Amino acid sequence: MIKATKHTPLATTITGSLPRPSWYVANLAGRRFSMAMADLVFREQYTDTLAAHITDQIRAGLDILTDGDARFDMDVGGRSWFSYVAERMEGLEDPGLRPQPWTSPRERAAGDILHEVMEARLPFFVRGPVGRGGLEYARVWKAAQRMTHRPMKFGACCGQLLEVVVLNQHYASRRELLFAIADSLNQELHEVADAGCPVVQLEEPLLHYIAGHDQGAELGTELYIDAFNREVAGLRDKTEVWVHTCWGNPAAQRVEVATSGYEGALELLDRLDVDVITFEAASDGGAALPAIGQAVGKDKKVCIGVVHHRSLEVETPEQVAGLIRKALRFIEPERLILSSDCGFGRQGMSRMHAFHKMVSLVRGANLVRRELGLDPAPCLAAEQRYSMLA
Ligand SMILES: [Zn+2]
Repeated sequence: MIKATKHTPLATTITGSLPRPSWYVANLAGRRFSMAMADLVFREQYTDTLAAHITDQIRAGLDILTDGDARFDMDVGGRSWFSYVAERMEGLEDPGLRPQPWTSPRERAAGDILHEVMEARLPFFVRGPVGRGGLEYARVWKAAQRMTHRPMKFGACCGQLLEVVVLNQHYASRRELLFAIADSLNQELHEVADAGCPVVQLEEPLLHYIAGHDQGAELGTELYIDAFNREVAGLRDKTEVWVHTCWGNPAAQRVEVATSGYEGALELLDRLDVDVITFEAASDGGAALPAIGQAVGKDKKVCIGVVHHRSLEVETPEQVAGLIRKALRFIEPERLILSSDCGFGRQGMSRMHAFHKMVSLVRGANLVRRELGLDPAPCLAAEQRYSMLA
């Protein structure tokens, strides 16, 4: 259900990850979150990192906050996005160094940055029935939400993407594994919603990567839609459910896929059992906005990226406002949410870049809010009277 963004036209947020502070050097390193939080050094660094991330987002003036994906280790190319789940679910075992099963020509080619990313993606074997294990998503969310009254979004990898990066040695088919993962994650996400989480965001099940190119594939778009909807079944009765799409973020790179734009996947995405669909718009100047406005059902909100996560150039508030105005030609302000195209990554850019992108996001939104007669959001970072030069 629309909950966190119900009374906020042009609500602002970021996708999830924020660059790690340089002093946050502790890692979960395979431990359960609650075990690591009993380690004094980890607990202090983790808690202080949350405080820094939350303060930065409040200074920028964002409406919906994230914990910056602070639970993930400082590893290569965002490996923890998958391995946090794989290391903690029941039925999965670390195989050590093995070839990654999912490769594109660039990922295969030594000398390519995507190859280096893949060298660190050690796939896990599925050797028994999968279960929730020690994911502890609710605890992770609570650790952040208890530091602010603003809504704290919880974001995680979807089971369909996890299935792609593991090696099945237990289930009779990939389809069976896909649904077993979906059922386990559904239980886990219900615990997060029951704890009071106002927004749960999952990654979309590869639809915009394979739409129109899945004929004859072992797992096609129909199966992915079924599995995703099983993973989120019943969640919308309790919380606001978002699905995130993007064109990739490993080491801040765009991934190689068969499709070139969103258009072929929009009707498939609209069949996902969610309240909000997110789209990259900053990276292509909003080229797909007319089609998005037409294809996404009125029961859903649309969240667009108005700052780019793969470039260091900080967008100006005027550039952000221009993209919002373009979106408003196709999507009503009550149904439009503003974000970054994807997470800022833990290594892709500096904290200063990410911070100023968040500030530009809010300042740009405020320009348009004023034009529409809406109240601008307080943006402490842009208060001239607090400038040390004033
Ligand atoms: Zn993304």
